[in-house]
Amino acid sequence: MNRNSIQFKAASVAEKVVSDQGIKQLPVDPIAIAHNLDIEVTPQPIHSRGVSGMLMRVNNSFGIAYATHINSIGFKNFSIAHELGHYFLPGHVDAVFGADNLHISKAGFFSEKQYEMEADLFAARLLMPQRLFKEAALSVDEGLLGIEELSRTCKTSLTATAIRYTECVEYPMAVIVSVRDKVSYCFMSEPLKEVSDLTWIRKGQNLPINTITFDFNQDSQRVQDAERDADVSDLQDWFGGDISVQIEEAVQGLGRYERTLTILTAPDLFDKIEEIKENEALHKSWEPKFRL
Ligand SMILES: [Zn+2]
Repeated sequence: MNRNSIQFKAASVAEKVVSDQGIKQLPVDPIAIAHNLDIEVTPQPIHSRGVSGMLMRVNNSFGIAYATHINSIGFKNFSIAHELGHYFLPGHVDAVFGADNLHISKAGFFSEKQYEMEADLFAARLLMPQRLFKEAALSVDEGLLGIEELSRTCKTSLTATAIRYTECVEYPMAVIVSVRDKVSYCFMSEPLKEVSDLTWIRKGQNLPINTITFDFNQDSQRVQDAERDADVSDLQDWFGGDISVQIEEAVQGLGRYERTLTILTAPDLFDKIEEIKENEALHKSWEPKFRL
């Protein structure tokens, strides 16, 4: 199954949970959902790096433990929602439990294992369900500031919120997570995908050197100190194509995650491209035509 069909399945199951639980406002509280299902949720000091939580089964009862080594409400909610994903998604309980009736998760959008990816996509959609999230997304500023506000409203991490935001916005934008000079992953909004001649950014490719993100990542201290930076950038530097047009680039160091979040936004990109093309056509019509 590819990511799109996995996403569709995970999103439908999460939306049904939101509807069955009668959730009408943000934030969605995954602990309250667990309690409604008689699933006990407990904090647990888990020292293994990258582990976010566990789902346990004793006879027919389930329990969730979430890791406490990262003190962030966004991480906690996502970890619990990920375990609920294993509980709700068809086939997961049979597939993810070992002989000890215990599943250990590494949640957080970096997994390529299908069951983990599905549980991550479920978690994002459970905490940021379509109707409520889209309504909230329409009421905030564009770009990083708006995404920050949404992450406070939903009690979700900045990265998870940014990725979910790209799925809902109606203007060209992209979210890029990078480590040093390499792209970890990139999500583009549908309107940005519609711009012709762009080369989509791929996982593992080098960051373009003429960008604020590239400069920012030269200093790992800035990433660890969760500094931020912002300026204009060029669409062409990021995505190639024939048109040089300015876009906004905002950069946020992700601190202990040792990654950098970049938000590229271009709300009026189509108007700018149109204007550039009209100017070029006008310029061409003025060029003197010589006979050879
Ligand atoms: Zn898992």
